[in-house]
Amino acid sequence: MIQHRISLETFEVPTGTPVFDWTVPKEWNVRDAYIKGPDGKKVVDFQECNLHLLNYSAPIRATMPLSALKNHLFTIPEKPDWIPYRTSYYKEDWGFCLSHNQMLALEDGSYEVCIDSTLEEGHLTYGECYLPGRSTDEVLFSCHTCHPSLANDNLSGLAVTTFLAQFLSERGLHYSYRILFVPGTIGAITWLARNREAVGRIRHGLVLTCLGDKGPFHYKKSRQGDAEIDRVAAHVLLHYGGSREILEFSPYGYDERQYCSPGFNLQVGCLMRSVWGSFPEYHTSADDLSFIQPPHLAESLRICVAIVDVLEENRRYRNLNPYCEPQLGRRGLYGSTGGEGIESEVNARLWVLNLSDGEHSLLDIAERSGLSFSAIKCAAQILCESNLLEMMPEEGNRDKCKPRAHGRSPARALIERYPR
Ligand SMILES: [Zn+2]
Repeated sequence: MIQHRISLETFEVPTGTPVFDWTVPKEWNVRDAYIKGPDGKKVVDFQECNLHLLNYSAPIRATMPLSALKNHLFTIPEKPDWIPYRTSYYKEDWGFCLSHNQMLALEDGSYEVCIDSTLEEGHLTYGECYLPGRSTDEVLFSCHTCHPSLANDNLSGLAVTTFLAQFLSERGLHYSYRILFVPGTIGAITWLARNREAVGRIRHGLVLTCLGDKGPFHYKKSRQGDAEIDRVAAHVLLHYGGSREILEFSPYGYDERQYCSPGFNLQVGCLMRSVWGSFPEYHTSADDLSFIQPPHLAESLRICVAIVDVLEENRRYRNLNPYCEPQLGRRGLYGSTGGEGIESEVNARLWVLNLSDGEHSLLDIAERSGLSFSAIKCAAQILCESNLLEMMPEEGNRDKCKPRAHGRSPARALIERYPR
C-alpha cells in the first residue's frame, strides 16, 4: 500500500546476518492459532484478532488443563475488555493474549491449544525511500513497522511518514531525504549496520511515532540536545501554538536510541503526540482505528512539513548596508501607515538586517527576536529583492527552494481538509 504512494525499495536481510552486537533473527510466520474449550468450541481465535497470539510464539499443538494453560495467558485485569499486545522476541516461548473477562469465563477442563506458526530461516524486511535533493547532505525520517493491529503506536507513524514522503517528492529539495520503514530496534540496527557509509551524510533526522491521537505534541531531543533539529522542532511547536512539551534525550524509547547511540550520535530526535506508555490504550487492542483521528494525523503532518520548511531554508545572510540602518521608507519597506509603533513586518526586517552579519542563521534571528521563522524568512526574501541583503557565499550552492508543485496531491488534500 505504501508503494502505491511513494517509491519504496524493500530490502531482505537473511536470518543469521550479524548486525553490530545483534543477529538478524528467524522469520516468524503464522497460519492459524486458537484455543478450544472442553466443549470443542474456540474460545480464543487468532483469526478474529492477531493480538491474541503472543508475538513470535513457537509452534505448539497440545492438550492441557486450564491450570497449565493459564501460565501462557496474558490479560490486563485493570482493563478487563482489552487484549494486551505482548511479544517474546528473544526467548522462545508461546502464549495467548485475551481480555480479562474472556479469561474469567473459562471453565475448568481440558483445553486444546494450536499454534500453527513457523520460526525458521528467512529474512528481516525493511523499506527505504530516497529522495535526492541538490545537496548530498541528508535528512532521515524513520518509523517502525512491527506492531500488528496497533493504530497510534505503529500505523500513525507509517501513515504520516508516507504522506510526508509524498509531500517531499512533490517539491524542490535542498537536502536529500532518506525515509525508513523498519521493524523497531532490530530493523534500525540492521539498517545502520548495512549503511555505515551513508550515516555520515545524515545532518538531521526524526523518528515519527504515536502521531494520531488527540494528545499534545511531544518532541524528544537528540542525544546532542542542542542540535539544529532540536531547535527547529522546538521553534515550530512554539509558534504553532497549543500545548506541547520538549523532552530531554533518554536512552529509552523508539529507534532514536540506535541513531543516537554514542558511535553514531546522529542529530535525530523523536516527534510524538502522546508519549508511548503514557496513555492507557498503549500496547492494547484499544489502540485501534477509533483511537486515532484524521485531523490529528493531518496536524502531525503539518508539523513535520513545517519542520522541513525550516531545515530547508535556514541559511545565513549578510547585510549589504551595515553602517547604520538603511532608510527603509525610501524603499517602501517601512510599512504604509507609520507612526503607530513598529509593525511586525518592519520589526522582522530590522531584526534580519541587524543580525545578518554572516554569523547568524535565520533560525538564530527568529529565536532571538521571538518572531516566527516564516516571518523572518519572508523579511529576508524582501530585503534580498531590495538589494539590502545577500545569502552568504559559502551557502551559494544552496539555492533558494523552488516553489512547490501545485495540484491537489492526497498529502496536500489531507492538510487542506483539516485546517487548523
Ligand atoms: Zn510499541
